Amino acid sequence: MYLHFPLYQPIHFHQMFFIKRYKSAIMLILIISALQTSAQQAEDLHQRVQQHSEAIFNDLVEVRRDLHRYPEVSGKEEKTSAKVADYLKDLGLEVHTNIGGYGVVGILQGGKPGKRIAWRADMDAMPSEEPDVVDFASEIEGVRHICGHDVHTAVGLGIANVLSQLKQELQGTVYFIFQPSEENYEGAKAMINNGLFKKIDPQEIYGLHISPWPAGTVATKSGSVYSHLNSLKITFKNEGKKDALIEDIKEMVSGFQNVEADSKFWDFRNLEDPEAGLESPATVFTNFLTVSENFNIRESAENITMSTLINTSDKKLMDSLPGKVRQKILESPYSSLLEEVVYTYEKITVNNDEELTFKTLELLADIYGKESVVPVYGVVPQGRGDDFAYFQQEVPGVYYFLGGANYESGVISMPHAPDFNVDEESIKFGVEFFSSVLVDRLILR
Ligand SMILES: [Zn+2]
Repeated sequence: MYLHFPLYQPIHFHQMFFIKRYKSAIMLILIISALQTSAQQAEDLHQRVQQHSEAIFNDLVEVRRDLHRYPEVSGKEEKTSAKVADYLKDLGLEVHTNIGGYGVVGILQGGKPGKRIAWRADMDAMPSEEPDVVDFASEIEGVRHICGHDVHTAVGLGIANVLSQLKQELQGTVYFIFQPSEENYEGAKAMINNGLFKKIDPQEIYGLHISPWPAGTVATKSGSVYSHLNSLKITFKNEGKKDALIEDIKEMVSGFQNVEADSKFWDFRNLEDPEAGLESPATVFTNFLTVSENFNIRESAENITMSTLINTSDKKLMDSLPGKVRQKILESPYSSLLEEVVYTYEKITVNNDEELTFKTLELLADIYGKESVVPVYGVVPQGRGDDFAYFQQEVPGVYYFLGGANYESGVISMPHAPDFNVDEESIKFGVEFFSSVLVDRLILR
């Protein structure tokens, strides 16, 4: 048996200890320099994102104006989708068309393997007879982009362009989903039913909607950003005495509404109110449950059914209502007539992943300044929504409101308003903000 060291244990251990300490010091230096490199690399990448976004901005404005001149309603986005497919092919992406109607998917493979992330933009316009308010007015009679999907499409193409230029550095794959038929809430579902997630398998998904916040800002929150809208149906045995029953049950169900009649909640303009609006911690657009006054009454020889729409800020409130209504009826003189209390319709709504919302907003604040991120506390009421919700049922993700307004020049980008208009600077902000988000999710996390 040969020993390098004499059998003199204390020295042996001391030497080992010294070597270990020396090794950990080297490791620490290596880790610190790796962190510095990745911090430097991150800064470089986000700078390149901003340079590329700036460089393509004028072209993107032209792309958007062309889409604006030739709008197509839900299900008819033939020319729009062809323009999108051409643009993506020119960037060198793998392009799939006609998914769930005129849906298009562009696949950008990064230079190295890694995560798979999707970006979604919607493409459809809306019927509108009102005159356009811009120089590049719609040339299609009765159709206009008054929901800003022309801007969403331009931003989606811009992000694809910027990320193509960073392709070698990208670790992973980005899927660009251009969705038809958002306005009728059908396109996302149609794309999924037509095998979208068999062609692509994203681990995260992101998308945006233009909104009346100022250009240069992004707003969102985790969980719901749009309210939940369900149809509640109550069925009774028909044993005569129906007038009293209908009146009493209407009153009882309406009693679950928790918004006062004189509340600022009822005026949509208050969404932006500094005290009552969405971005105030004291917002009136939270913890709400409203009951429509319009009850639909049906009567057959056997049954009387009463249906009404319920609008809530969160799913828990919504889910708890039928049980509460049932309980109250069972405690009333009508208990023996009650057959069932059920929801017959549920509009699924945007549901932002908590961790991804937090991380991406934190990143945006870091790179583009705290003032570019608007924290949201409230939920947009009255059944507005986005069928992006269907994608989020399959893949965790975040839906953002991109500021499009410019108050000084009177541009208030309220979707569906007849004088809808957008500050086109928001296109550049959208491209750089969300190229940075995707780069960060792909490379740096
Ligand atoms: Zn829209």
